[in-house]
Amino acid sequence: MARHESMSRLGGWEGYELVDDWDELRGQQRWCVIRLSPIRGRLRCCSGCGRATRLLHDLQERRVRDLPVFECCVELIVPRVRVACESCGPKLERLNWLAPYARVTQRLAESVARLCRVASILHVARFFGLDWKTVKACDYASLQQQLGPVDLDGITVIALDEFAIQKGHRYATVIVEPLRKRVLWVGRGRGREDIRPFFALLGPQRCLALRAAVMDMSAGYELEVQAHCPHAAIVFDLFHVVAKYGREVIDRVRVDRANELRADRHGRRVVKAARWLLLKNRDNLSPRQDVELDELLAANHSLFVVYVLRDALKNLWQQRHPEQAARAWRSWYRQALRSGIGPLRHFARKLRPYVPGILAHCLYPLGTNLIEGINNKIKVIKRMAYGFRDDAYFFLKIRAAFPGVGR
Ligand SMILES: [Zn+2]
Repeated sequence: MARHESMSRLGGWEGYELVDDWDELRGQQRWCVIRLSPIRGRLRCCSGCGRATRLLHDLQERRVRDLPVFECCVELIVPRVRVACESCGPKLERLNWLAPYARVTQRLAESVARLCRVASILHVARFFGLDWKTVKACDYASLQQQLGPVDLDGITVIALDEFAIQKGHRYATVIVEPLRKRVLWVGRGRGREDIRPFFALLGPQRCLALRAAVMDMSAGYELEVQAHCPHAAIVFDLFHVVAKYGREVIDRVRVDRANELRADRHGRRVVKAARWLLLKNRDNLSPRQDVELDELLAANHSLFVVYVLRDALKNLWQQRHPEQAARAWRSWYRQALRSGIGPLRHFARKLRPYVPGILAHCLYPLGTNLIEGINNKIKVIKRMAYGFRDDAYFFLKIRAAFPGVGR
């Protein structure tokens, strides 16, 4: 009995005592099974109203998991007490170590949630020998408690971005406060009505206080922002414009050029293989790739032109004075039109209506790598939450990844 007493004390299952324990081999895994019993005559709290009572209604036996001990998985057999509450009727007893209907003890849930910050659900499930649904539920509850409701006061600038939820065409929108690197809201879809709930949450007063909204120029956010936030300048971010330029101009010109080189097999192969070389940031190239790129650009005039104009396009976002920026834009536009390169001219014409939003960046110079960073982080979270089609959980993970700095 002395052994049971000390195990009871170490276990810390308040209101319960250990009455039996034994080992079991399940497959390759050793298990320690512990039978608990409610200590008689105790005051117990109703989980509904918190009132204390000694009156028990009945017991319902549950099997729950606790933290592993040495090499053993631990399973508790817990006769869960339902108190006969004066105001609520039969109700589960409130325990600080086991939430109502939980399959794992509070301390195991906390360990699971901690591990979920750095590992995928599947890995955590395997590590603890738990069902992935249980792991997800632990992480979800912990995130919800940790994050709480979003504080929407004092926001002057927001950034909106879309991302793909699954392969195919299902999208979601993330809204962040760029100055504090904080996710404010995540929701399904990327249309006007999809983001409306955010502005309802923000409320008319705080909508009026918004000075700028940063976004991708191809998204449908602009009208909705203007409808709610008349004082907010629309700003188009560099990351998306340059990515679009890469797809619609550089890639196009590269393919066209490869087709021109049909007679020159070597040259054609070099141009075809150069996609990555052309799209990557030059600073990220190795010395050898740097030389390769120079040779490629020297031998292919059209590629050279679109490459140089991409850097000039990026420079528009470096300007801090509206007049200089406007001048830089006009010069860029002229060069693009005179280049004689079809995809480039087409892109420049399409970009023209968005110029006010590009130049507005001078007044709201926000780090554009924030959007890129969030985009990349979301991809990682998607992989870690792989296969779990649960928006609420996925969105909570995104919020948790950008809880914000300073204040
Ligand atoms: Zn009650």
